[in-house]
Amino acid sequence: MQQYQTKEQQMKFYKSKAWRQLRLFVLERDNYECQECKRNGYVKLADNDKHKSLDVDHIKELVDYPDLAMDPDNLETLCIKCHNRKHGRYLKGFERKPNKWEHDERW
Ligand SMILES: [Zn+2]
Repeated sequence: MQQYQTKEQQMKFYKSKAWRQLRLFVLERDNYECQECKRNGYVKLADNDKHKSLDVDHIKELVDYPDLAMDPDNLETLCIKCHNRKHGRYLKGFERKPNKWEHDERW
């Protein structure tokens, strides 16, 4: 079975044509609305940047459930804000967790 343990494998997945098509399918299915905001009762107004401000999220993580990678039932539209909150990321973009050793003591 295809695994997505490494960043390289994940990047390859996210760049695949099959994923891009599925991603679009999910966005359309969800009406380009953040499902988390919707659950919380917010209605996000459509704006010109909506395509950029929305992500398609794996409800069950790609790493842990590789067999659900392409399952529409495991996918939902999230805005960047909710997506980042879910993954504990900072607001802007996709910075990786700081290197564990970065703040380590100097010799
Ligand atoms: Zn949201």
